[in-house]
Amino acid sequence: MFMFISFIFNEQALTRHSAQRDTENLARGFAETVNNSINDVDQIMMLMRSAYSANPVGIKLSDWTTARKFNTKLTVQISIVDRNGLLLQSSLDMPKTPVNLSDRAHFKAQLNPNADELFISDPVVGRVSNQRTIQLTRKLFNNKGQFSGILVVSLDTDYLSQYYHSFDISNGEILLVSADGVIDARGTLANPTDGIGTSLHNTQLEPMLDAVGPGVIEAESPIDHTERLYAYRPLRDHRLQVAVGLSLEDIRRPMLYRICLATVLCLSILLSILLTGRALRRRQVKEYEAQAALAHAKKLAQLGEMATGIAHELNQPLGVISLSAENCIRAIDVGSSTPERLRSKLNRIIEETVRAATLIEHMRVFGRNDHGPITSIRLQKVMDNVLQIIDFKLSSEHVSIKSDLPSDLPPVRAQLVLLEQVLINLIANACHAYGVSTVPAKPSLRTIEITARSWGAMVRINVQDHAGGISEYAMERLFIPFFTTQGVGKGVGLGLAISYGIITDLGGSIVAANQNGGALFTITLPQG
Ligand code: ADP
Repeated sequence: MFMFISFIFNEQALTRHSAQRDTENLARGFAETVNNSINDVDQIMMLMRSAYSANPVGIKLSDWTTARKFNTKLTVQISIVDRNGLLLQSSLDMPKTPVNLSDRAHFKAQLNPNADELFISDPVVGRVSNQRTIQLTRKLFNNKGQFSGILVVSLDTDYLSQYYHSFDISNGEILLVSADGVIDARGTLANPTDGIGTSLHNTQLEPMLDAVGPGVIEAESPIDHTERLYAYRPLRDHRLQVAVGLSLEDIRRPMLYRICLATVLCLSILLSILLTGRALRRRQVKEYEAQAALAHAKKLAQLGEMATGIAHELNQPLGVISLSAENCIRAIDVGSSTPERLRSKLNRIIEETVRAATLIEHMRVFGRNDHGPITSIRLQKVMDNVLQIIDFKLSSEHVSIKSDLPSDLPPVRAQLVLLEQVLINLIANACHAYGVSTVPAKPSLRTIEITARSWGAMVRINVQDHAGGISEYAMERLFIPFFTTQGVGKGVGLGLAISYGIITDLGGSIVAANQNGGALFTITLPQG
């Protein structure tokens, strides 16, 4: 998320930066072009002025236009106006009636006796050409150096607007702005001549009129109300300014596209992570549920298998209870017993009742589908419970257990019932291996050694038998569910798969090896 947000900020900054650079470059190019065009025109005006001074009546304007000294597309008309403002000559057809231009700003500007400068007017509709033009004027002097009128070159504002098409700026805008803040020429995609003559005072573009150098401004165009990023700059040699504006929408569109693309990409990655995560979780939950159901089924099956043993286990205390109770009654009947002896027999009954109740309670807990919490468990307690359940099976298979659990053995972190289940699986498998072993071991060797040692932060438990070991084929498949070498109807091949699941869920491990003439299962569990 942080990367995505920083990508957006970065993208915005980069886009803004590159758009600003583009508009500034375009403005620089446009300013140079206009500046040079005006300089070219002024240069010829100066030549004409010299020619005029040398021979005020002999100058022919057509010579200057036909000789292509002027860019005839830009220059609509050249005219000479006398010192009173009356049109004397025009490169266009002279009107039949006299034309007085003394009211025009471009004439009046040249009446100042202290200045001899090129004047550039705001756009006006020519009285001879009937075309909207900006007027470039210069003083004319006769051969005695006296002011004798003005030379006027009318420039086509529409032609200046054409520069727009040499830029690839889509919904952009170029402006040529006069010294008093009026639009002299304007280029846009649509209606390029709209807005010519409009003052930029009191518009969002006004700050450019006060600026002394180039700059950049975000503003809404007062003409088409499009929001643009404008770069403006004054002409090098003339009191005019240009501005080039790129539409903010055009600027943002590729950025938005890139951001959209990045968003879609991020979202799809996020979505796939979520979906995969959810699917994985769902699968894990299902696997866990399936595993738990299998483990439970296997437990019940084990209880079923142990039913005879359990019945035997229960028979013993019941037998003792019954016998002790009968003895008590008989003693009371014949009055042969002392209260102390009676008390002792009754105590025995209570002890056996407790023993039976403990066994029943354990069967109940073991058979429950609730595995209880993960707690700190002493292995001795686990072994005691396991032996209670499996004792009868061991004696009927003539297998004995030798357990070696040091008194200072640290407890393990586990769920009691599940750990019991694992050990019961391993012991039951060893018993079965003894039952099918082709190398009958001496009764003294039909043992299962259960040893446990502290091992770093773990406790390692070994379950070793001497029943011939595990075949290579079985060794590779031991922990795969439903792998069994027991005959149909005997094994289901779930004991080790379930044990593996239980131990790894507790953060431990279980591996098998062949050694000492039998199988060795090694379990590690975190210390509790
Ligand atoms: P099941 O006991 O139902 O066959 P398990 O998953 O507990 O399922 O055991 C899978 C197989 O692993 C057994 O069928 C047997 O071939 C092999 N096996 C397990 N324990 C021993 C062992 N102590 N000695 C020899 N083979 C074993």
